[in-house]
Amino acid sequence: MSCCDDTALTRGLMPLEQARMKMLDSLSVATEIRECDLQRSVGCILASDIYSPINVPPFNNSAMDGYAMAHQSLTHNQTLMMVGKSFAGIPYQGTVAAGQCIRIMTGAMMPKGCDTVVMQENVSAQKTDITINKLPTVGQNVRGLGEEFAQGQLVLTQGCVITPRHIALLASLGFAKLPVRPKLKVAIFSTGDELVKLGQPLADGEIYDSNRFALIAMLERLPVDIIDYGVIPDDPDKIRAAFVDADLNADVIISSGGVSVGEADFTRDIIQEIGEVNFWKLAIKPGKPIAFGQFENSVFFGLPGNPVSSMVTFYQLAKPALLKLGGGIVKPALQLKATLGHNLRKSPGRMDFQRGIVTANDQGELEVTSTGTQSSSMMGSMCLANCFIVLPQAQGNVNSGDVVMVELFDHVLN
Ligand code: AMP
Ligand code: MG
Repeated sequence: MSCCDDTALTRGLMPLEQARMKMLDSLSVATEIRECDLQRSVGCILASDIYSPINVPPFNNSAMDGYAMAHQSLTHNQTLMMVGKSFAGIPYQGTVAAGQCIRIMTGAMMPKGCDTVVMQENVSAQKTDITINKLPTVGQNVRGLGEEFAQGQLVLTQGCVITPRHIALLASLGFAKLPVRPKLKVAIFSTGDELVKLGQPLADGEIYDSNRFALIAMLERLPVDIIDYGVIPDDPDKIRAAFVDADLNADVIISSGGVSVGEADFTRDIIQEIGEVNFWKLAIKPGKPIAFGQFENSVFFGLPGNPVSSMVTFYQLAKPALLKLGGGIVKPALQLKATLGHNLRKSPGRMDFQRGIVTANDQGELEVTSTGTQSSSMMGSMCLANCFIVLPQAQGNVNSGDVVMVELFDHVLN
């Protein structure tokens, strides 16, 4: 059966990929640019292409501790007179003639007249001269001027999320400040009369509000500022007031709960009243009902209430949306092949994000097992897992030994 078959199972359910495309297409991208200290920019989105202001390296230098010479002089005589030293930051000022060499350290500037370094392990050194035991090739052990980046060369393109690796590169180019996109303001709240603040005892029928903490914890790993509206009871006036206020103060509003079809699911009606909202029944498990749309000033996500569903829909939909809205480049998640360690039950009709534990066997090949019970209310399965086992919409049961696709959790979940 294909994923597009119009059976009772798939009818009315939108494939995740379609929802993600529709959503991303509807979002406009941030254009504002702020200047940020390099050290504070990790996790921010780069707002402009970066060109190297200098040659990297900025001068020819030695890649080894050893001896620098003109390669030409080696063909006549393997014994060279040592006439000076070049240290990192303290270059040799003179010119080196044929038959001479310079003691040189890693990172030190190549002296005039030298084009090659022989590593010290290949030399017998006397007080004033050296004998080379293994001839180097021309230019060996020299890092050439502009070898990595020429001055003016494109180094990074806008839209990347700045990581410690980017910081290392940008610092080596001398950038004290960077152009970044301003952080999005994200308002967040939970809805539900049953939700109790942490630290309080539970009365009959009550549970702790865990979604808001989970969502905030994930948001803290993204380039956003969070406005926490707390728990809103299942009271239409209070829910409406929260949305109206959040729309005035935030670029994105994320709520959880109340988007299904129950009698206390007021979120649906209210957001429809004040915004342009799509209700999607997604062909994914967990996480079927989700609302997405635009208010006057903000973009809105109404995530399902079940904890695993709200986490998975945040990860699969809201996370790429926040990246795009914030001016970042959205790339598809990396999926890897892994061999399943046991049978898995699945009905065709929805794409399944089962929680899995992926490991490498002695040959380095990936193997995956499920974390067990997959109920969307049970967060324990997420905590044991390090990946989603992604089973396509049309897939039925899967057998031990079958190859499945896994999506490793990224820094937002880990
Ligand atoms: P709802 O979508 O509001 O019908 O909620 C679906 C399920 O998720 C119910 O069992 C709720 O009690 C639970 N739920 C809703 N919001 C939260 C929350 N913030 N934290 C934990 N569980 C929740
Ligand atoms: Mg509810």
